[in-house]
Amino acid sequence: MSGFGFSRWAGLAVALANTAPGQRHGDLLTSADELAALLRAHGEPEPVDVETGDLAGVLVARDAFNGVFDLAGDEAALAERLNALLDRAARPRLVAHAGVPLHLHVDAPGSSWGGWFAASGAMGLALLVAEHGAAVLTRCAAGDCRDAVLRVGSGPPRRFCSATCASRVRVAAHRQGRRGRPAAE
Ligand SMILES: [Zn+2]
Repeated sequence: MSGFGFSRWAGLAVALANTAPGQRHGDLLTSADELAALLRAHGEPEPVDVETGDLAGVLVARDAFNGVFDLAGDEAALAERLNALLDRAARPRLVAHAGVPLHLHVDAPGSSWGGWFAASGAMGLALLVAEHGAAVLTRCAAGDCRDAVLRVGSGPPRRFCSATCASRVRVAAHRQGRRGRPAAE
């Protein structure tokens, strides 16, 4: 199982946040099938058992994560928001299943998918902030995107959510530069 990994939880929180309708796409999470696909794309072990009734709670967690990313750049407010989410949703504990070694569950026992997302995502984001600083949570630098971005990994800090946004902004800046240049070179 792909199981433990707070970076996986953080990645899921970001992916969930970015299903919200944005400037470049509509709502990408409107059915149980889309929710199951999102979970599977992020290594959730089978069986991924999702029902239509799970959607509402997951969308509440989505709003909560977008609220956190909206505070990017304001370290104190961001920490306060994440702490409130942890306080509400998280109940970390060690669990052993048959054949699976002790591992950490963050959601309260019997949580819905919404409760699981809120707890695991908040914990994942909080641990990344603790390890890398609050600047690890940001929004895409493309003014016409602003999707949530995790600035993790080696190399220069990521500014864009995707190569698509990076190249779109680069091409636009290049065109702008050409227009600004004198006619006689
Ligand atoms: Zn973007």
